[in-house]
Amino acid sequence: MRSIPSMSSCKKLFEGMLMTWIDNFNEALCPLDACYYDLVFLDYHLDGRDTIDSLRRATRHEERNMPVIVLAETEDHLDDPEVIRQGAADYLCKQEMSVSMLKRSVRYAIERKKIEQRLLTLSHYDPLTGLANRNLFYLKLTDGIIQSLRGDKLLALFFLDLDHSKEINDTLGHPAGDRLLQDVSARLKETTRSSDTVARLGGDEFAIIATHINNETDVTLLAKKIISSFNEPFKFTGKQISTHTSVGIALCPTHGHDPDELLRHADLALYQAKAAGRNNFKFYASELDARAQEFRALEQEMRYALQHQDFTLHFQPMFSADGNKVLGVEALARGNHKVRGMISPVHFIPLAESSGLILPLGAQILEMACDQINLWRQLKLPELLIAVNLSPAQFADPELVEKIMETLQRKGVPSHLVELEITENTLMDTGPGATKRLTKLHDMGIRLAIDDFGTGYSSLSYLKKFPVHKLKIDRVFIKDITTDKGDATIARSIIQLGQAMNLEIIAEGVETEAQLEFLRKEGCDQVQGFLFAKPMTNKALIEWLPEYQAKTKHIGC
Ligand code: C2E
Ligand code: MG
Ligand code: MG
Repeated sequence: MRSIPSMSSCKKLFEGMLMTWIDNFNEALCPLDACYYDLVFLDYHLDGRDTIDSLRRATRHEERNMPVIVLAETEDHLDDPEVIRQGAADYLCKQEMSVSMLKRSVRYAIERKKIEQRLLTLSHYDPLTGLANRNLFYLKLTDGIIQSLRGDKLLALFFLDLDHSKEINDTLGHPAGDRLLQDVSARLKETTRSSDTVARLGGDEFAIIATHINNETDVTLLAKKIISSFNEPFKFTGKQISTHTSVGIALCPTHGHDPDELLRHADLALYQAKAAGRNNFKFYASELDARAQEFRALEQEMRYALQHQDFTLHFQPMFSADGNKVLGVEALARGNHKVRGMISPVHFIPLAESSGLILPLGAQILEMACDQINLWRQLKLPELLIAVNLSPAQFADPELVEKIMETLQRKGVPSHLVELEITENTLMDTGPGATKRLTKLHDMGIRLAIDDFGTGYSSLSYLKKFPVHKLKIDRVFIKDITTDKGDATIARSIIQLGQAMNLEIIAEGVETEAQLEFLRKEGCDQVQGFLFAKPMTNKALIEWLPEYQAKTKHIGC
């Protein structure tokens, strides 16, 4: 075994510095590995070896971070750019060397190494969490794959993202969001082995590379361990914050042999895990690939459509139950696809919800609704109420109230002309916070309706606390209202409930005279459905309104 030279073999170089001579490169490797010295002088002609090769071996090792100064007999011997390129901190010619020059060179080489180290840290580690960053992650993944392919062990790549981290940032502010990321990083470190690499790839995206794994069962165990490490809420600044994670997994060699392929597969698996409900993990599976790819493509198309304002609104009038007055219109979003034509919201709203695009889409829809109100005003049409649907993620947005207020002010639209339709389930899922948010909107003068009423399970006591103006009976009950006793009873009860609570009641999806008859008899105030009018474009609406009015009917809220 080679040993590190004893101090007795050291000679004094100059004040505060001892020097050891080793005249055989192979013997020098051991102390080099041990990072035993502050600085290495490498003789250009040591052993008669190829100096560049020696230099490479002395400097290109992750753990060896000692600066190397190359010494040459004469200037002619040096291939100067190559020496520096291969990692030498400096080079000196023995013939021209003086003590002061040597001292300067030593000081410079040590300083330069420190700076290099600092740069390396910056380029390999995430400053916020101290975890590996994307660069180091990629290097480790490449290394891990090579090892896995050489041996018979698996490499598992886990992709994670945090559920609801944006909401946490929005509600508690960025410092708390940063603190959460740091605490999450610490937990992930605790959950994994020291030989695993935990990396933060950006935002709330983390990745873990676990190597030397025996089988898939071990991977599953680790995935479960990762997920359950989030069970305990995070505690800081006197608050408890609950967040969970979804995990996508790709294995080498099972699911891919190169870094980019594995990355893509882990990412697709993560997408699948999120789609299957959060707090979940999924292995990459090739049959899911096609579906996930299609989802991705649709998401891309949606982003494009959002940028190019390819969404439009159709408007469906809402009538008094006698059919003699149009009280307002419901704005219903439509996608305008260059190949597939008009796309129904039942296809793109859920996709927008799961991809987070619903917030910008919802904002665009509200803007378009305001633009319509202004256009109708310019055309001197009577004032019409416009009902806009809010999706669960929009209602959960902590900035919802401010965003709506800002839009209405900017567009100069009075709040009493805007009604927000929020489904019963959204209100129930939001919990006690829903009342606060509704109260703020109510106090701004915005009208509020509970959409699809009857399908959720709102308790009466809850309902009493919601400051809403209107209940909209879900069309599933209207459909068979004249034939199905159960549906008839539900519709009747909702009408009675509304009357008792002094709320307006509207029935949606009214298609037949018989349904209308039933609703009128039971005292329902308002109706909406194909029997009266289908959703129509703005152009069609502007033509339809005067025709309707000509039949001595009324328009306006
Ligand atoms: P919703 O808010 O309950 O809208 C009523 C749906 O019933 C509309 O479908 C409308 O076209 C349809 N409808 C109206 N009258 C009748 C009828 O007599 N018979 C039948 N069979 N259907 C009728 P649409 O436009 O396809 O919208 C479906 C759902 O998509 C909406 O249900 C709403 O939940 C969502 N949605 C639509 N536009 C938006 C939007 O701008 N934002 C959000 N977040 N969701 C939207
Ligand atoms: Mg609606
Ligand atoms: Mg509805």
